[in-house]
Amino acid sequence: MIGVLRERLKGLRSFPRGIHPPHRKEHSESSPIRLFVPTGEMVVPLAQHIGAPCTPTVKPRTEIEYAQQIASAEAFVSAPIHAPIAGKTGQPTIVPLPSGRRVPAIPVKPAAEGALPEGLLEDFLDRNWGGVEPTGYEPEQIVNAVRDSGVVGLGGATFPTHVKLKLNPDKPIDTLLLNGCECEPYLTADHRLMIECPEAIVVGLQLAQHAVSAQRAIIAIEENKPDAIEAMRKAISGRPGLEVAVCATKYPMGGERQLIPAVLGRAVPSAPKGLPLDVGVVVINVATAHSVARAVVHGKPLTHRVVSVTGGGVAEPGNWLTPVGTRYSELIEHCGGATEAAAKVLAGGPMMGPTVPHLAVPVVKGTGGITVMTEAETTRWQETPCIRCSRCVDFCPLHLSPTKLAHAVKFRDYEQANKYDMNACCECGCCSYTCPARIPLAQYIRAGKNQWRIIAAQQKAS
Ligand code: SF4
Ligand code: SF4
Repeated sequence: MIGVLRERLKGLRSFPRGIHPPHRKEHSESSPIRLFVPTGEMVVPLAQHIGAPCTPTVKPRTEIEYAQQIASAEAFVSAPIHAPIAGKTGQPTIVPLPSGRRVPAIPVKPAAEGALPEGLLEDFLDRNWGGVEPTGYEPEQIVNAVRDSGVVGLGGATFPTHVKLKLNPDKPIDTLLLNGCECEPYLTADHRLMIECPEAIVVGLQLAQHAVSAQRAIIAIEENKPDAIEAMRKAISGRPGLEVAVCATKYPMGGERQLIPAVLGRAVPSAPKGLPLDVGVVVINVATAHSVARAVVHGKPLTHRVVSVTGGGVAEPGNWLTPVGTRYSELIEHCGGATEAAAKVLAGGPMMGPTVPHLAVPVVKGTGGITVMTEAETTRWQETPCIRCSRCVDFCPLHLSPTKLAHAVKFRDYEQANKYDMNACCECGCCSYTCPARIPLAQYIRAGKNQWRIIAAQQKAS
């Protein structure tokens, strides 16, 4: 609590608890966004979002054009998928996502010539948004364009954005919060986007604000990104009703349940039932706002995303505009390959990113970064007995009891784990990070949540 008071006295927005891991952003934070054009076979998963998987709309061995819809979304909570490259489709297959989950997918062999349109990077980084008036669009028009373009939450959650932006008369929204914190160590994709295309992000923010009828819109950025703070402040000048909130550099500031109390002083009811809209707030990520602007104003579908390829284990770290479906192996190879010191590859950053099962996994809409870590950067979990120090409890930003949760999961007592509110855990990893006994508490809890989902589905089916 003293730490929070100190941060607030400095004029920074903050929340109680949480941790301060090393940032390690230096690998890629000054590397401008560049375009990656894959030449090897790609594989486009049909489930790249939370919700129902898509249905393919193209046949095997068919020529496809860049940005053509290749899979449709019939369910409300779903998002269509568009061709990330021109080429030829292969036989439908099953691929593991970076998380390890296996889903149906369409293989695509990129065309030898003209696989991507000329000027795609320049178009993505376009800064000429001055003449766009977001209130000139009807809320329904915004929601429909976002849905048709397959936009999902790019901060990692991959919840279909049109569902978030659909007005709910029972839950009025007063504030749109734009998340530019990127609190996960190593990752710099959002940081670069705020520096290189702040105008498009602001237009996307205002479109989202208009769709949900929010009076206020606030851009939250951690203080360790002064250049991004300056760029966003410049981009909002002349656009009334927008403000930038500078947040303490603290993990997990970018979590909705930490960001809302930090910026607005409102507590979000416990997950999974409680949501930000219960306290009148919608949170979207800066990359999502950028995609919203491109979808609504220019009708551009979400085919690419900026990926930080970073860590001490990759030869030339950087930020790459990458088509979804690109294999990790090809992108890492393009960055000079993994060094001899490379020990593991993570989908995302070290706090929440899972170790990938192999390097043939594809980049998906939710991939903000690939971290190649060396042995020296890696913590080995040689678990020893709990010494009951309570550090895990003291640092949990959601006020849970990680040691009791992990103990219940170890003994497969999921009823007991649920009594300790297992499903409220956001898997941030603060507990594992602070545990002196090196107990992988967050990993136990994640495994327990997955197991409980299977048990609940079986109970429902029987
Ligand atoms: S119990 Fe969950 S929410 Fe709490 S610190 Fe651990 S991983 Fe984070
Ligand atoms: S931090 Fe680790 S050692 Fe301390 S109480 Fe929690 S589980 Fe036990």
